[in-house]
Amino acid sequence: MAITIFSNTALFDGVSPERREGQHVVVEDGVIREVTDRPVILEGAETIDLSGRTLMPGLIDAHIHAYFPDVDPRRGDQMPITMVAHRARVMLEASLQRGFTSVRDTGGGDHGLFLAIERGWVRGPRLFYCGSALSQTGGHGDMRRPFDPELCTCGLAWSRPRGYRGHLTCTVDGVEPLREAVREEFRKGAHFIKIMGSGGVASTGDSLTHAQYSPEEIRAVVDEVERHGSYVTAHVHPDGALRRCIELGVHCIEHGTMLSDDTAALAAARDVSIVPTLAVIEALRLHGPRLGFPAESMRKLAEVQPTAVAGVERMKRAGVRIGFGTDLIGELDRHQCIEFTLRSEVMTPFEILRSATSINAEIIRQGNWIGRVAEGYAADLIVVDGDPLRDIALLAADGSKVPLVMKGGLVLKREAMH
Ligand SMILES: [Zn+2]
Repeated sequence: MAITIFSNTALFDGVSPERREGQHVVVEDGVIREVTDRPVILEGAETIDLSGRTLMPGLIDAHIHAYFPDVDPRRGDQMPITMVAHRARVMLEASLQRGFTSVRDTGGGDHGLFLAIERGWVRGPRLFYCGSALSQTGGHGDMRRPFDPELCTCGLAWSRPRGYRGHLTCTVDGVEPLREAVREEFRKGAHFIKIMGSGGVASTGDSLTHAQYSPEEIRAVVDEVERHGSYVTAHVHPDGALRRCIELGVHCIEHGTMLSDDTAALAAARDVSIVPTLAVIEALRLHGPRLGFPAESMRKLAEVQPTAVAGVERMKRAGVRIGFGTDLIGELDRHQCIEFTLRSEVMTPFEILRSATSINAEIIRQGNWIGRVAEGYAADLIVVDGDPLRDIALLAADGSKVPLVMKGGLVLKREAMH
């Protein structure tokens, strides 16, 4: 297979705060073979002279939804899956062009989409998926209104005569049905499991501040994923539900917007990662009403919005492992890069970059082969026109300062570098 040499590059390796100049990186068979400060000449290799631009690991977004085509989840769930899948392709390919070479889909993404990407039919980021996000009846993943029938949308919930199943979520109640649902998702190739641990913003039928799932149910999920060598992440906003999930053994938290200092300290002590998602909160605040985000959801948004950025600062002070996620829904996905700008209020460029590369790789349990520029790692690499460790705005520019994207040794974006 082809050999590519990136010569004369400045290097951010995903881990170290230094930007090392005068480096040369050799890629062979989709893998990084060598990182050296000595020029490399190999017969038959393609050399790309970066003239001092920055080479760094491809970005990882640890919270996306490929199958969320409309800001109103009910409208999205009523679209045929074929239509939703085509929209997923457009979304994922645009994300790759912004520099994201891996995404974790925290509800919806499935084996079919995974294979379409692996085969190159979708020129998008690597996909790590959980299948359906699991919700209790009347919880954040249950999009029924009070007057809807007991069984709603695309099919049957887990071997039960009632429940909800949409493109992202399904309802499952009780310890044994949950064990079966977790096993079923793993059978379908899921990389991890997602549960709804509290109310949420997009769902109109539940209260934002209520804890969801019983302790027995959450413990059963934790037991199943651990025996499978995997992990569970929980959608949670309010502090009480956060503390409860952490105490019950959940491995990762999504959002975590309303956490207290005590809970942040507990997360750090228990080695629980948190993936804040500031982009969706800001994008909905700006564009939600115009796009038809339900009025009830806008009211809930106003509850999490004021504490979201301060929450990230709290996590940082407590020493929590902070991931990088965006959670953009519907046509808001184009705002993926505002997460860089929003984080910069409370994090340094280095902290943000590490979060979006090596730390995210660890959180999604792929840290031994992606998220770094190091020998033996996958050649998921991007070129940045400038120094992102000084100027994070280079990554907030929707890919316009990212002239080259390589995934697994294949160049999927290449613009002229002057
Ligand atoms: Zn989400």
